[in-house]
Amino acid sequence: MLEVKNLSAWYGAAQALFDVSLHLGQGELLLLQGLNGAGKSTLLQSLIGLGPRVQGEVVLQHQPIAHLPAHARARLGLGFVPEDRRLFAELTVLENLLVAARPPASTAAASMAQVAGEKQQLDQVFALFPALKPMQKRRALEMSGGEQQMLSIARTLMTSPTVLLLDEPCEGIAPVLVESIVQALLQLKKQGMSLLVAEQNALLAAHADRVITLVAGQLGQHRTP
Ligand code: ATP
Repeated sequence: MLEVKNLSAWYGAAQALFDVSLHLGQGELLLLQGLNGAGKSTLLQSLIGLGPRVQGEVVLQHQPIAHLPAHARARLGLGFVPEDRRLFAELTVLENLLVAARPPASTAAASMAQVAGEKQQLDQVFALFPALKPMQKRRALEMSGGEQQMLSIARTLMTSPTVLLLDEPCEGIAPVLVESIVQALLQLKKQGMSLLVAEQNALLAAHADRVITLVAGQLGQHRTP
C-alpha cells in the first residue's frame, strides 16, 4: 500500500531524517516509536506532503507521490490525523465532519449522490465512534481531549482514506477513551485499512503487527510484538 525508499528530510541545513525506508501492507498496523525529537512527526508530515524539504521515494498503491502536493496525496487515499487535531473549535461535531467530506459537485444528480455518500460515511464513523453520535450538535471546543481526538480521527475518515497516518492519537487522553480509540483503529485494520501510527501507548503496541523505532532520524531495530 505504502512504500517509502531512502527518505531524507531537512529543516534548512539541519537534517532530520536519514534514508528512511519502510513498507506498509494492506490491513497492516505499523507502530512508529522514538524519543521526543527523533523525527516521528517529520516522517509523517513528509509522507503527506506537509513536511520540510525532502528527498526520496514515496509510493502509494504503486503510484509515486513524492512530487505531489498534499491535497493530491489526500485525494489518492492518504489520510492524516495530526497531533494537535486541528478541529474547527466553533463548529459542531456534525459540521466538523461534513466540512471534511468531498465538496458538492455541480449537477443536481451528483449533489444527490454526494448527500447519499455523506450519509453513508456519517453512519460509518458513528458506528466506529458511537460516543460521537449523541454529540452531533456540540461544538468541538466543548468536548474533552479524548472526544476531540475521536472527532479528529472521524473527520479524517470522512475523506475515505485507504492509508491512515496518525500522530500520537492516544497522547494525554483518559484511559477509557484510549481504549475506544484503540478498538476503533483495530476495527479499521480489520476492514483492510493500512495504519501507520506514531505512538508510545503500550495498549496499541500490543496490537501492532510490527514496531519500528526512529533514533535521531534513522530507523533502528524492527520487531514484531
Ligand atoms: P515529538 O515526539 O516531540 O513530537 P518527534 O519524534 O515527532 O518528536 P520531530 O518533531 O519530527 O520529532 O522533530 C525531529 C527533529 O526536527 C528535531 O530535532 C526537531 O527539533 C526538528 N524540527 C522539528 N520541527 C522543526 C521545524 N519546524 N523547524 C526546525 N526544526 C524542526
